[in-house]
Amino acid sequence: MLDAVFKPRGVAVIGASSKELHIGNRVIRNLVDFGFTGGIYPINPKADEIRGLKAYKSLLDVPGDVDVAHMVIPAKFVPMAMEDCGKKGVQHVIINSGGFSETGPEGEKIEKAFLEVAAKYGIRVFGPNCQGVINTDPAYRAYCNFTFTFPGPGAISIVALSGGVAEVIHQGFAAAGVGTRIYASNGNACDVSIPEIIDYLAGDEGTRVIVTYVEGLREPAAFLEAVTNAAARKPVLAMKAGRTAEGAKAAASHTGGLAKEDLATDLIFDRAGALTFTDEGEMIQAAIAFASQPLPKGSRVGLITNTGGPAVIATDILVGAGLTLPPLSDATQARLKETLFPEASVKNPVDVLATGTAEHYRACMDAMMEDDAFDAVLVHFVTPFFVDTDSIAREIAEVNRQRKKPLVCNLMTDRKQWTETVGILKEAEVPFFALPGEAARAMASLVRYHKIQSRPAGEIQTFTEIRAEKARGILENAQAAGRNQLAAEEVYRILDAYGFPTASWRTADDPDAAAKAAEEIGFPVVLKADAASVLHKSDMGGVAVNLADADAVREAAERMQSNIDADDLRFFVQAFVPDGLEVILGAKSEPGLGHLLMFGLGGIFVEVLKDVVFRLTPVTDAEAGRMLEDITGAPLLEGVRGQKGVDRAALASLIQRLSRLVSDLPEIAEMDLNPVKALSDRVVVVDARIAL
Ligand code: ADP
Ligand code: MG
Repeated sequence: MLDAVFKPRGVAVIGASSKELHIGNRVIRNLVDFGFTGGIYPINPKADEIRGLKAYKSLLDVPGDVDVAHMVIPAKFVPMAMEDCGKKGVQHVIINSGGFSETGPEGEKIEKAFLEVAAKYGIRVFGPNCQGVINTDPAYRAYCNFTFTFPGPGAISIVALSGGVAEVIHQGFAAAGVGTRIYASNGNACDVSIPEIIDYLAGDEGTRVIVTYVEGLREPAAFLEAVTNAAARKPVLAMKAGRTAEGAKAAASHTGGLAKEDLATDLIFDRAGALTFTDEGEMIQAAIAFASQPLPKGSRVGLITNTGGPAVIATDILVGAGLTLPPLSDATQARLKETLFPEASVKNPVDVLATGTAEHYRACMDAMMEDDAFDAVLVHFVTPFFVDTDSIAREIAEVNRQRKKPLVCNLMTDRKQWTETVGILKEAEVPFFALPGEAARAMASLVRYHKIQSRPAGEIQTFTEIRAEKARGILENAQAAGRNQLAAEEVYRILDAYGFPTASWRTADDPDAAAKAAEEIGFPVVLKADAASVLHKSDMGGVAVNLADADAVREAAERMQSNIDADDLRFFVQAFVPDGLEVILGAKSEPGLGHLLMFGLGGIFVEVLKDVVFRLTPVTDAEAGRMLEDITGAPLLEGVRGQKGVDRAALASLIQRLSRLVSDLPEIAEMDLNPVKALSDRVVVVDARIAL
């Protein structure tokens, strides 16, 4: 339980300092200035008092209970100080000092040493090399942290490994005049982990929104579980760094190459139902909207404005994000016509005109709040000098207090001059932003969360006629022989065992045998070179398609024999599948998580368009369906310009079959089915590769 670190009654600072610019001084100052409700105990063997507080020579001299002890001392003294903490009954230690595992093996040793002591006494450690925590709850007002932004009480909690980013987010809320609830930045996270903190925040009643920032995950499975649980209870807004640096080096038809290095984090967020962001400003603004607004029940937005252009900008952004702007019903239009100026426009957006009054705004907001055609309301509000803007703000505030539907405001003003107007909105917790785009994107985030929450999870399809043991035997054989790439025959036998629809095939040792195999399959056929060194067959002249007779097969095989320099060269003969859209399915092992599954347009499209999407295994039927919808080329699957669509149900099933295969056989490091020919009534795998 993390209660003690977030709700301490007594805090000691080991390494308290009289020097103003020292962390051991700043933490004490922050506790005092923020109004910490518990006891503050500076520990310093040489000083009698620090910042006006009595200092103690040793932690063991402190008269009161100490729940949290900060350590602001050189790393080498930490294990010893931890002993004192154990004897004193300290529950949590926040180690602000650095010099541990982040510096190398020496520091790692010290980290291990103090962890052993902590374990002996049941002490939980926060950090080291971290900022610490803040809890704005008036009952505690615990500022166990050395930063300098003093937040007001609020409903947004922040958790991040990186103190720098946590502070940026924190400052963003403070600058917007929005309070926060709990702040946690745990640096090296040697003990108390991010998933644990997220779990805590999920259960914290005062936290309405969780904002988190990560840079790759150490415990992906625990993280997935924590975020899944939290996101089911409250919005989790998440961001991770290092996207572009990892950029996709798309090696053709390699799932591994197409998957960005840290793609798994995004997939975890997606699976867990968190809302992801690529821009910290956008995440901060969305959090402000989530903190005070009810969640929308759909994506239909009503816009009200007293100036034209900004509403147009917002409209573009909303529509681009998949939201809709339904027209006002005839009845509502008629009602507004009676109230608004005759020149006002009662379409959506409703333009009350610059001279529009508080009464006008109110009539529009009421109409949209009451009309079932709208799920949310976006108010644009420029503050002209010739209208009573305070009254307009009061009406917006009043409607916002009713919490009927989410309301977001784009407030275009000079905040220094219109202090009263701004103050009214702030006081009422209206989320207002200075740009139409910011307001629109915050609104889009509210709706995006609604969509995530209402998407069906689906079920994992069970396949009955699977011969898992047979497939496992084939794998183990290859492993025993020390081979990482499976031969074509092994790959296709595994696919057969798992019921994948493949084009009929035979293997052959020489050109004559290939010709004979082709006759058995029936023409036309495809001939492929099969050798350990041949990864991309067509690049090496190892694929001959649409061969019409035995002579053509023999000739093609002889050509491959003379062109391809491989002692183990064999032939793979396969029925030719003339038509169909080429798609790719792939899987890549993700240690600690299972596999990433990939689906997209195959063949040459893979290299050029990289139109692929990923999910984590196991993939449910609903998720497989969404994978088909999520590629840019989705209309190709449905059929365009008179072309027939492909058998999407069969494709979705193939995705799930692959999910099952790699879940059963976790030794598979990477696997591609490229291409799969998708036809109107079936799908056929015509090339496959498995690497262990
Ligand atoms: P590789 O990917 O190793 O170069 P493939 O087996 O994928 O080799 O063959 C290359 C291309 O040849 C495929 O992308 C596909 O367009 C075509 N092809 C391969 N096998 C068949 C087949 N059985 N029927 C029709 N076309 C095929
Ligand atoms: Mg291929």
